[in-house]
Amino acid sequence: MYWIDGHCDVLFKLWKNKEDGLDFYGNGRKNGLDVTWSGVRKSRVLLQVFAVFVPPEVPRSQSWQVALDQVDRFYEEVVKEADRLRPVFSGEDLKDLKRKGGRIGGLLSLEGADALQGSLSHLRLLYRLGVRQVGLTWNHANEAADGIEEERGGGLTRFGKQLVAEMDRLGMVLDVSHLSVKGFWDVMETGIPVVASHSNTRAVCSHPRNLLDDQVRALVRNDGLIGVTFVPRFIHDDPDAATVDGILRHIEHICSLGGENRIAFGSDFDGIDQKVPGLEGSEALTMLGEELLKRYPEPLVRKWCGENWYDFYIRHL
Ligand SMILES: [Zn+2]
Repeated sequence: MYWIDGHCDVLFKLWKNKEDGLDFYGNGRKNGLDVTWSGVRKSRVLLQVFAVFVPPEVPRSQSWQVALDQVDRFYEEVVKEADRLRPVFSGEDLKDLKRKGGRIGGLLSLEGADALQGSLSHLRLLYRLGVRQVGLTWNHANEAADGIEEERGGGLTRFGKQLVAEMDRLGMVLDVSHLSVKGFWDVMETGIPVVASHSNTRAVCSHPRNLLDDQVRALVRNDGLIGVTFVPRFIHDDPDAATVDGILRHIEHICSLGGENRIAFGSDFDGIDQKVPGLEGSEALTMLGEELLKRYPEPLVRKWCGENWYDFYIRHL
């Protein structure tokens, strides 16, 4: 059984802690990263999605440069040995990876259109640099749309609609995690391939970052994916009580809404300070897989851990 993880913030951490000598290929997690070569290797990860995330404290004038720096981290520090981890740009690349075995794939995503500075040419350049998945917002408003923590709750702007159309033309995947509810529904009208790369369900945990039942149903209807995430405050209303069992409750709930073929995972490793006990880095995915296998039939577990992401990317990249 292989894994695909739809979201991690390794590149953000490598950029933010440039001076600290973090090393993706270093020895275990002592190097300060949750997702490491040895971890993904141990858990048989086939594909890891690496987000480019420009934090809100970066002035707008520098956001594009910071995004480029993080793309550079990807090629310099993560891909650097292409015989081990190679970038994935297409469904064919992914098929090839699975067929040949022995290597791990890395897919670039952008978390928040802020870095585009309202420019479609920036989007096209990121596509050429290998970015294949874009989340329109982080938690706040930007040129494209409002994020989920923006009180006015606006949807897509005029630029946001142009951006989605251009993404669709290029063949990119749209990520609705962090997006406002209105923005979500605007996106669902467009017909572009949609995932929620790292979100849980609001019926189980009331955090606004989680998906409402209607949103889950819409993703199920539209052949989207829900990357169940390991962020304690999105698992349980009391983050200190978040456990692996708590993650399973979100899975159960999505299944109850007809989504068993739409479940995947998006760890958010390296983007979180608090962790679910026992689930602290990519090496622990094996344990989660074993827990799932105790309760669910293997064909289903295989889908959730990797095959649903795989099939989605084969269809849409
Ligand atoms: Zn995020």
